[in-house]
Amino acid sequence: MLTAISIIVGALIGSFLNVCIARLPKEESIVFPGSHCPRCGHPIRGYDNIPIISYLVLKGKCRDCGASISIQYPLVEGITAVGSFLLFLRFGLSVAYLIYFAFLCSLIVITVIDLYHQIIPDVISLPGIGVGLLASLVLPGITFWNSLVGVLLGGGSLFIVATVYQWLFKREGMGGGDVKLLAMIGAFLGWKVVILTILLSSLIGSVVGIVMIVVKGKDFKYAIPFGPFLAAGAVISLGWGGQIIGWYLNLNR
Ligand SMILES: [Zn+2]
Repeated sequence: MLTAISIIVGALIGSFLNVCIARLPKEESIVFPGSHCPRCGHPIRGYDNIPIISYLVLKGKCRDCGASISIQYPLVEGITAVGSFLLFLRFGLSVAYLIYFAFLCSLIVITVIDLYHQIIPDVISLPGIGVGLLASLVLPGITFWNSLVGVLLGGGSLFIVATVYQWLFKREGMGGGDVKLLAMIGAFLGWKVVILTILLSSLIGSVVGIVMIVVKGKDFKYAIPFGPFLAAGAVISLGWGGQIIGWYLNLNR
């Protein structure tokens, strides 16, 4: 029963994340006014605002003007629901579930905004660093010092990479947004897991980058936002970091 609720709550929160994704880059209020169609401006009716299901019922089109609704809406709702479900399975109804779910939600919003606008809003990442540090005081399995070193190592390492890159190539390769995002990830996951996150996101980023160069013929100057890879690396690290680190240490025994 509680498991079913975790999925439904996840989908509802996902619906709210879509509002944040649409409005945060425009610096609009995320509370007021209610949702409306971006083309005809008609307010979305309550029964047309059910996560995932409304998208299917309306076949992805506005009831009033027929404008197509982005697949982003049901995707974000579905991913948030699955994330809530998996975290609930692992942590049960606990403070850890709430904290890691909030962390996951912030990563989802950052990923989609970065994909659309190539920016990572400070309004999420900067408070995120503070929340992550505070969370280490109540989370089992991470100390405040681990969290603090995570912030310094995560933010510091990317800051050095970004500075060296800029000095070598005379252009910005990685934005300050990525530095603050990795500092936030370090706050929530600690220094060991943030190293794993850096390795995983570089690996995923390289693979995707090479595939895009091969498939689309883009050259290396084509800027791919790095935020989504950092977020993906953080999610994999959160889910399976312990196993991956344990497996690696076993290899070197
Ligand atoms: Zn419309």
